[in-house]
Amino acid sequence: GKTLLEVKDLEVSFFTYAGEVKAVRGVSFSLDQGEAISIVGESGCGKSVTVHSIMKLIPSPPGKIKKGAIIFNGEDLVKKSEKQMQAIRGSEIGMIFQDPMTSLNPTMTIGQQIAETLIKHHNMSRSQAMEQAIRMLELVQIPNPGKRVRQYPHEFSGGMRQRVMIAIALACNPKLLIADEPTTALDVTIQAQIIDLMRELQHKMGTSIILITHDLGIVADLAQRVIVMYAGQVIEYGTVDDIFYNARHPYTWGLLQSVPRLDKRGNNRLVPIDGTPPDLLAPPKGCAFADRCKYAMRICKEEQPPVYDLGNGHGCSCHLLHPQAPKVQVPQLYGG
Ligand code: SF4
Ligand code: MG
Repeated sequence: GKTLLEVKDLEVSFFTYAGEVKAVRGVSFSLDQGEAISIVGESGCGKSVTVHSIMKLIPSPPGKIKKGAIIFNGEDLVKKSEKQMQAIRGSEIGMIFQDPMTSLNPTMTIGQQIAETLIKHHNMSRSQAMEQAIRMLELVQIPNPGKRVRQYPHEFSGGMRQRVMIAIALACNPKLLIADEPTTALDVTIQAQIIDLMRELQHKMGTSIILITHDLGIVADLAQRVIVMYAGQVIEYGTVDDIFYNARHPYTWGLLQSVPRLDKRGNNRLVPIDGTPPDLLAPPKGCAFADRCKYAMRICKEEQPPVYDLGNGHGCSCHLLHPQAPKVQVPQLYGG
């Protein structure tokens, strides 16, 4: 497919009293038109900072995009002014967050809030925009949209509010939808419904999606490719099958063992990953996972592992993939 987004060697830091927190350390990935990818990793791994950088929503100061390019639709967003970004946000790139209550305005009706984006970006009249708002509520499968459009956020359940957020994000038919932990606050059944809805809309409208999550369980239902982040870096990437059935990084193995799986409900033996990620005020010289990795070798503490290309878009950054490294037994995680 045609490339919609290309993030190249992105570095983002936060300059605090304690020093420079290197939150994103050389992240690269690309996304095709109509494709859905997922960025996974524990909280603090830099996944939210990465997508907030794409939206240019990093508070500055203390945040700063230090290096890299974010090519969206052929143009580098890093070079855009705040005014140019305002035109892109909402119309070209939509975003939904974990907690819709904090992004919805409690004093405005749902219809007014959807209409506002349309009036701002599409010069619609108020009545046209309200009609379109009703169609959007219908699209995200909210029953009684004609009545619902006049109600306030507190009159909606958590799952319904997230549908409203999706309606707002998609109102201007953006090319890219960024969803940052969109279902984390919802119960499992509602989560699955929201992911279903996003998949349906992706097919119907051809929207590209970046799904940020710490929960690998919801990834397979939506994304075609997965990017695994750790301590501000991409440590493994590949198709959903590569990551679920042929992961090569010990951290990815840990993630797979530590998340609940929707397809094996009730049969989960969750094994949390011991230890904590490194302090990004002073990132380690070698592999950032070395302190937590039971396969760590001497070289791991000394040198950053290179990215090994495993073919067909699967890559992994771990010294175990060096041809002379000891062979380790890949844990049997899935397929049983
Ligand atoms: Fe473990 Fe070494 Fe691989 Fe890092 S590079 S994940 S420490 S084996
Ligand atoms: Mg986050």
